[in-house]
Amino acid sequence: MTSKNNTIDTIRQLLHNANNILLTSHIRPDGDAVGSLLGLGLALMAVGKDVQFVLTDGLPSTFKHLSGADQVITAAKEDFDLSVVVDCSDLERTGGSLGENQPDINIDHHITNLKFARHNLVEAKAATASIITNHLKDWDLPLTLPAAEALLTGMITDTIGFRTSNVTGETLRIASVLVDHGANISELYDQALVTRSYAETKLWGLGLSRLERDGRIVWTSLNNEDKKLAKFHGKGSADIINLLTSIDDADIAVVFLESDNHHIKVSWRAKPPLDISKLALSFGGGGHAAAAGADVNGTMEEVTAHILKATRAYLKNGILPANQISGL
Ligand code: 5GP
Ligand code: MN
Repeated sequence: MTSKNNTIDTIRQLLHNANNILLTSHIRPDGDAVGSLLGLGLALMAVGKDVQFVLTDGLPSTFKHLSGADQVITAAKEDFDLSVVVDCSDLERTGGSLGENQPDINIDHHITNLKFARHNLVEAKAATASIITNHLKDWDLPLTLPAAEALLTGMITDTIGFRTSNVTGETLRIASVLVDHGANISELYDQALVTRSYAETKLWGLGLSRLERDGRIVWTSLNNEDKKLAKFHGKGSADIINLLTSIDDADIAVVFLESDNHHIKVSWRAKPPLDISKLALSFGGGGHAAAAGADVNGTMEEVTAHILKATRAYLKNGILPANQISGL
């Protein structure tokens, strides 16, 4: 047996031996965090397990239609005998949902994953939800309709509707399993990627009014004042980065989002063959070649200047392997 097969088998045993399983994911949860969390948790509930869904920042309203959404809590309530972290490349990104405890299981698709748990299943697939879908059978867990809906939502959101450069035939085959189990792809797509609140749309407007460009880099920022003006109460940036990536005369898009504790959340998107993940890692963040992020300490002015300088230097180096730019 390979060590990967060992890990998969160990995870099966751990899941079946546990009774109260804590599932958690990253701060500012996106669709893959939520979909993976609920998908795995709903399958575990279907075999009689007690499950706690913990997201430190709570559930974004975009995903409130999913089964189990109303069970998401922001801190662990009860004791648990097994912990599983999904879609999270480092432990800090859980926002402290596990306290000092080392997680038992880490299931993730980020190439920058730091393998922080006792058992780490890291596969470079298009979404963490696709890893879970693929292994449910190995783990003797049923792919129920609510689980399939959550998992397909994870796949749809992380691939922005199956149009990111990491989408392969395998991605579509995995998604087709979910559709075959009854998940309604057009409805889930619409709910996850098309439907927007007025407040989110207003926030886009404020961000877009401040759009800037320097050569092949475009960027904008969102501060707490914008959120207040737009009456937007979410933790994230309402995915405004997805709008910036549609600008054809740019190769890198960056969004700076003011967050708590003197931190700025930086989101990068890069067009292939650029790899932005190591740049994000060099700022303590992580992600994928085409989409990465980091939480950077400082004021909006400081962080914007610093990050743009590093991003410009990276772009000037062209498509050099990312490890050659780690000194930025
Ligand atoms: P986003 O820009 O949408 O927040 O994130 C893009 C990608 O980078 C996602 O896959 C996300 O998980 C990862 N990412 C974003 N921010 C951070 C961060 O602060 N730390 C790490 N490790 N990954 C991040
Ligand atoms: Mn995620």
